[in-house]
Amino acid sequence: MCGIVGYIGRREAMPVLLEGLHRLEYRGYDSAGIAVVYRGKLQVTKTAGRVQDLRDRVNDKIKSNVGVGHTRWATHGEPNEINAHPHLDAEGHIAVVHNGIIENAEQLRAQLTTAGVNLVSDTDTEALAHLIAGELRTGGGSLEDAVCRTLSRVEGTYGLLVIDVRHPDELVVARNGSPIVLGLGESEMFVASDVAALVRHTQQVVYLDDGEVATVRANGYQTRTLDNQRTSKEPTTVEADDGDYELGAYEDYMRKEIHEQPEALRRVLRGRLEDRFATARLGGINLDPRELRSVRRVKFLGCGSAYYAGQMGAVLVEELARVPADAEPASEFRYRNPVVDPDTLYIAISQSGETLDTLMAVQELKRKGGQVLGAVNVVGSAIARECGRGVFLHAGPEIAVASTKALTNMAASFALLGVLLGRVRDMSAAEGARLVDGLRALPGQIEQILAQEDNIATIAGQFAGADHMFYIGRVRAWPVAREGAQKLKEISYVHAEAYQASELKHGPLALIDASMPSVVLVPDDELFAKNISTIEQIKARGGPVIAVTSGDLPADLADAVIKVPHNTPELDPILLTIPLQMFAYHTAAKLGRDIDKPRNLAKSVTVE
Ligand code: GLU
Repeated sequence: MCGIVGYIGRREAMPVLLEGLHRLEYRGYDSAGIAVVYRGKLQVTKTAGRVQDLRDRVNDKIKSNVGVGHTRWATHGEPNEINAHPHLDAEGHIAVVHNGIIENAEQLRAQLTTAGVNLVSDTDTEALAHLIAGELRTGGGSLEDAVCRTLSRVEGTYGLLVIDVRHPDELVVARNGSPIVLGLGESEMFVASDVAALVRHTQQVVYLDDGEVATVRANGYQTRTLDNQRTSKEPTTVEADDGDYELGAYEDYMRKEIHEQPEALRRVLRGRLEDRFATARLGGINLDPRELRSVRRVKFLGCGSAYYAGQMGAVLVEELARVPADAEPASEFRYRNPVVDPDTLYIAISQSGETLDTLMAVQELKRKGGQVLGAVNVVGSAIARECGRGVFLHAGPEIAVASTKALTNMAASFALLGVLLGRVRDMSAAEGARLVDGLRALPGQIEQILAQEDNIATIAGQFAGADHMFYIGRVRAWPVAREGAQKLKEISYVHAEAYQASELKHGPLALIDASMPSVVLVPDDELFAKNISTIEQIKARGGPVIAVTSGDLPADLADAVIKVPHNTPELDPILLTIPLQMFAYHTAAKLGRDIDKPRNLAKSVTVE
């Protein structure tokens, strides 16, 4: 789950590696380490602390042009200095850094112990270093050959980077389930688990596929599959540059990313609004009008916030295109032997494009002949490549664990899809134009909401003492309520539950009293009056109400009101999500939480 960096070339490796590790800190880690080749030996520095501590520990006199670095998120053995990567073989020739989990580690470690190898750490990773050294000793061949032979004995997931001190002109990398990307420079090459570590140096990258291995030298690289088929790779240009990863004037990434939404939204809409024909253009989905017409059903699959964005998408597609649509957690879908219908268009949603549950759902769909598109933010990611077509979200790098701008762009993309599917069916040009105009107005309207941050922060402060909260919405605003509750839970650790307004009286109303505030979503649509009576029902039982509305509420109806501009009934839900992000953010800030890195959560969930 954590970070890998590697460098080979003409510069000094140490600063490049340390800077790369610093760039990966946002992913969360518990220890770090580095190894470079110096005077024919591997010089290893490790710490159970932060990258800054590693920086303080390295010997400045060591000049090297090749090395590997790692930030660890412990799975096998506690986070201490010995268990930190890199791990070496007994002779100290081979150094390995690894992301992921070796599932048969216990067995491999036992075999090594029986063979007389002394394992110094508790990790799964160390076994790999000894096994690779053993393969080199007994079977010979190149380091790449030895890595491949070793990996044929390994079960589990890995992003792997290996160096052999006797061959300091090459690095070997391998990938299965945990990303590895190569950065191409001029007479130098970079390796990382995440482009964030590379973009300062190069925009030209190559993503390894699962089951691929590469040998990387200063002047180039070659790739093959584990079973020894050569592969050829096209470099991709990454959109992001180093500045996208800087905090700038913000105190944390979540607040920065909330405020980047108007710009991110403009990017996802750019070139996709077609005024002449009052429709949307989504070139990457590769479906012509006849194919679009033959779609009988749309199913969105995602996990966490991506699932709620999918639910927003389902409401949009069903309403705009009159095509039945629904959403399901990809994590459930993959386990329940789903009926895959060839006339259904499946949409796999993932910010990182590496969410394992979603990737597995895509693979299962493909095995069963389903047609699946990706809705992914990271170009070149596993889900993007597995789907081969889809909608890129163009939100820019999203670093805070809690998704904001990626989610907004997901919802906007699904509105585009709804318009596109609608316009090849019964949606009139006038309707299409109304929605295209609505989409175009969204970024400016989000700016207006962001300008109310002080007011929203004050309201969050008033309710930050609550132990539990309800989020209430109906129909179009129901997924918004679910996402709002999720945001509050994940970053503030306040228990929040979302309910359909219509369901309130069928049970949860029993919980309403003065200690249970409700955030009630009141879009300016045909259900406006119904939502007002919902607020009245809650108030009648003494429950405090924070109303979030795009309409004009009667004065004094709610205890606090957050007003968003009105767009169209279909697109208002996108606007309603924004104040809920800010409400959760400021609640978490009031409670002193680590907002970018909430406890127990990771940004890209590449494990089961
Ligand atoms: N499983 C390895 C360990 O516990 C690697 C964990 C990681 O991805 O950082 O050391």
